[in-house]
Amino acid sequence: MAAALIDGAALARRLNDELKVKVEALAVSGVVPRLGVILVGDDPASHTYVRSKSRAARSVGIDSVEHRLDSSISEAELLALVDQLNHDPDTDGILIQLPLPRQIDVTKVLRAVHPAKDVDGFHPTNVGERVTGAGGIIPCTPMGAMFLIETVRSNIEGLDAVVIGMSNIVGKPMADLLLSAGCTVTVAHIKTVGLPAICKRADIVVVAVGKPRLVRAEWIKPGAIVIDVGINRIVTSDGEKRLVGDVAFEEAAVVAGAITPVPGGVGPMTIACLLLNTFQAALGRRGAELRAG
Ligand code: NAD
Repeated sequence: MAAALIDGAALARRLNDELKVKVEALAVSGVVPRLGVILVGDDPASHTYVRSKSRAARSVGIDSVEHRLDSSISEAELLALVDQLNHDPDTDGILIQLPLPRQIDVTKVLRAVHPAKDVDGFHPTNVGERVTGAGGIIPCTPMGAMFLIETVRSNIEGLDAVVIGMSNIVGKPMADLLLSAGCTVTVAHIKTVGLPAICKRADIVVVAVGKPRLVRAEWIKPGAIVIDVGINRIVTSDGEKRLVGDVAFEEAAVVAGAITPVPGGVGPMTIACLLLNTFQAALGRRGAELRAG
């Protein structure tokens, strides 16, 4: 393997340690940031993610309150819970674990979260503020990916970046952050023609698709920074269950300059950034209260 391994787990630990100190300092003023997590249904992956997020929150001193709802819940009932958390003075951040059951309009529910408590950064107000450079809460996965890129190269101005995948959650905000950092950005997707050649010209490749081994060694420019966002559960030919990304890691690592592993790359950083956003939301909401106190 020629590439440097970008260790997301280690960076996430460092960020969490730093955050813990800040949370402890805030606790002296009587403020404990609280994350309200809404989990609907019994998708095993969603349960695993929520468990990890809650455990990580508690480890830095952030209070995590889980609201587990049956998959048959109506949209109106879910909206009522969001409204309740919006008005709860002790809740600083609201996370709605996706996917939601079919009967629920996801867009409507995400829009119902108060922008100041939208720690996932999905609300149109936060999207608009981010895109226009006015601030806004940044979605956790692209934020984590930017931290990882920074560990390899602090100034990425003028570099060619290719983002594969154009979801509202990862691809589009990722492209926007890279653009803001001065990269020339191409966003590729399922309809893109000639993807291998487009990818090959990139100094930075971010892959967020959900297809194991989509990106092959021959797609990668020698020395490129490769960030693999994909999480795919596969069963190997020997029957072993494994978590893999969207990049054919072993072969890509021979060509790339730096690469993230799966697991241990973007995943832990997503959680670390969720905690940072929750802390910032608490400071933002309670700042006036703290200054007055
Ligand atoms: P999504 O399904 O919403 O979007 C997938 C995107 O990939 C779409 O824009 C689609 O056009 C594109 N695509 C599909 N097939 C393609 C192909 N053959 N070539 C090029 N583009 C193609 O997915 P998402 O929510 O953005 O998630 C993407 C992946 O990232 C998933 O594996 C998901 O589990 C993972 N993910 C990981 C984290 C993390 O913390 N590591 C967070 C969010 C998502």
